Amino acid sequence: MNSMYMSLTNAPSKQASLTCKNISPLDSYFKRCQAPKPQFTRIFFQVSKRRKQIVCQVNMSAQSTAGQVIRCKAAVAWEAGKPLVIEEVEVAPPQAMEVRLKILFTSLCHTDVYFWEAKGQTPLFPRIFGHEAGGIVDSVGEGVTHLKPGDHVLPVFTGECGNCRHCKSKESNMCDLLRINTDRGVMLSDGKTRFSINGKPIYHFVGTSTFSEYTVAHVGSVAKINPAAPLDKVCILSCGISTGLGATLNVAKPTKGSTVAIFGLGAVGLAAAEGARIAGASRIIGVDLNPNRFEEAKKFGCTEFVNPKDHNKPVQEVLAEMTDGGVDRSVECTGNINTMISAFECVHDGWGVAVLVGVPNRDDAFKTRPVNFLNERTLKGTFFGNYKPRSDLPSVVEKYMNKELELEKFITHQVAFRDINKAFDYMLAGEGIRCIIRMDA
Ligand code: NAD
Ligand code: ZN
Repeated sequence: MNSMYMSLTNAPSKQASLTCKNISPLDSYFKRCQAPKPQFTRIFFQVSKRRKQIVCQVNMSAQSTAGQVIRCKAAVAWEAGKPLVIEEVEVAPPQAMEVRLKILFTSLCHTDVYFWEAKGQTPLFPRIFGHEAGGIVDSVGEGVTHLKPGDHVLPVFTGECGNCRHCKSKESNMCDLLRINTDRGVMLSDGKTRFSINGKPIYHFVGTSTFSEYTVAHVGSVAKINPAAPLDKVCILSCGISTGLGATLNVAKPTKGSTVAIFGLGAVGLAAAEGARIAGASRIIGVDLNPNRFEEAKKFGCTEFVNPKDHNKPVQEVLAEMTDGGVDRSVECTGNINTMISAFECVHDGWGVAVLVGVPNRDDAFKTRPVNFLNERTLKGTFFGNYKPRSDLPSVVEKYMNKELELEKFITHQVAFRDINKAFDYMLAGEGIRCIIRMDA
């Protein structure tokens, strides 16, 4: 049992605030600050004459869920390509080095869609998808010391154990223990799932499974962030936006005045374009098959556009003609193997660097003439824009808080959790950029 003081600034009078109806500001307070609502046991009011406010003392016992199974709603994918079904699932308590999170906002990234469609990927069903999200720590398992219930967090599809040679290297974010694994549907510690329906296991996705009101993740896949950051905005930093931004700023590293081509103008590509703008690129050429993307992309710094459908020669040749031999940097954000090859072949010889970000089909093979490498072009690839999720993500959140990075322009749609399939429809129709799914609606 602990107690807390708060002032109901809008309470009209002492008497009015003593009615049950006027307890509702407390509800909205907890909603606004996104804290789990405590169980009220006793509420006292007193008039503070000096501050002309009614002061309310709440004795509360935040009901602990630690160690207990939680029943909640989750959007379950039962079969490839079939609409998700909102089901009541059991979420087991976190085991050693795991945390259970209450997800407040999640969004849809194309990687969820690929593995849900399971075309050219390894199918694993029933599964709970979702990896771009923001939430609050509900409870922690044994051995977890740097996170506690109530912390505001972003779960990330690729983790950081902190101890392996990758985590200790300044160059890599490919943690030996927790790097992205799209085929694994179980927790690392015991090879079991934490989700079930009537005892039947439901598989996890990339260690996050955020299309659920509660989820369990390894502690190394969870970044603690500034609690003042609005989770309905910064949730998109937990995958797409950081990935695109980091692919340009950390991997392609264009110099001021350079020319950058971005293939695919979805959230990831537009964030890559934003990175190019921040780096001072003078020409940012957006390449997409969907012409509706072009107007939107101007807001993200794109200066020119190419639709490969408008040309009867390979797009790499079109770009080479536009740029006197090739672009200085290119970032590929579609996942299409031929686009990856174009993105490499359109960079200038001598110094050009191409960065692959899109997730290809499992059996795709990259084919190009080796002389393209001899001519001193460089091909790179990255997960999560080379950011180390736990160490680096909090500072990307701070970029938003300091107004160095705008997130609002990426968010074009919002849906209630029960309408999650609409987010899939928008993405499949190429409509909008990111769709926020509100878990409480
Ligand atoms: P999205 O669907 O919002 O955007 C993809 C864009 O690419 C669309 O505008 C589409 O019209 C365009 N496109 C598709 N095929 C094309 C082609 N052949 N040529 C030109 N344009 C084409 O997707 P998103 O969420 O922005 O994700 C983009 C890619 O990045 C996906 O492959 C996703 O899996 C991948 N991804 C990778 C990482 C990583 O860490 N490497 C992280 C997140 C997403
Ligand atoms: Zn993603």
